[in-house]
Amino acid sequence: MDYYSSQISKLIEELSRLPGIGAKSAGRLAFHMINMPKEQVEQLASTMVQARSQVRYCRECCTLTDEELCPICASTERDHKTIMVVENPRDLGAYEKTGKYNGVYHVLHGAISPMLGIGPGDIRLKELMERLQRDVEEVIIATNSSLEGETTAMYISKLIKPTGIKVSRIASGVPVGGDLEYIDEVTLLRALEGRTEL
Ligand code: ZN
Repeated sequence: MDYYSSQISKLIEELSRLPGIGAKSAGRLAFHMINMPKEQVEQLASTMVQARSQVRYCRECCTLTDEELCPICASTERDHKTIMVVENPRDLGAYEKTGKYNGVYHVLHGAISPMLGIGPGDIRLKELMERLQRDVEEVIIATNSSLEGETTAMYISKLIKPTGIKVSRIASGVPVGGDLEYIDEVTLLRALEGRTEL
């Protein structure tokens, strides 16, 4: 039985498709939106559409950006011979917040997970290997310390080893299964400084 107007039901249904939003929260959000000033709803909607259409992947590191090159890749102040490999743009943000890393990044957009059927071809590995054709001295693998993160780290190090480029892994001070984003800066820095060559 449809006891809401079909428009509201549709809105609830769309919202509940978002990650972390269950049916209850979707309902709350939907009714909140209905009561918001019309201009505010329009602004929210247009911001979402604009973000979706204008945000793209950096040509170099594959992070999300508005330009062809993200500000980090475009910077001449950064050390472009050191590449830190992270799983997602939020991890990049976590390291940037420490303000102590001066190299560049490579964002994989995921990790290898045989259980979920995510293979090496499903993450941005090919792009990383292409970058290594150029002048690179060290690749720091900073994937999460979850099973997927470790699997990915191992896979990447095996790929890179034959090229002779130094490969290191951040120290395991990062809690197992911990999303890098939620780890404090001191822990992140310790993990980076204590990295070991693979
Ligand atoms: Zn970039």
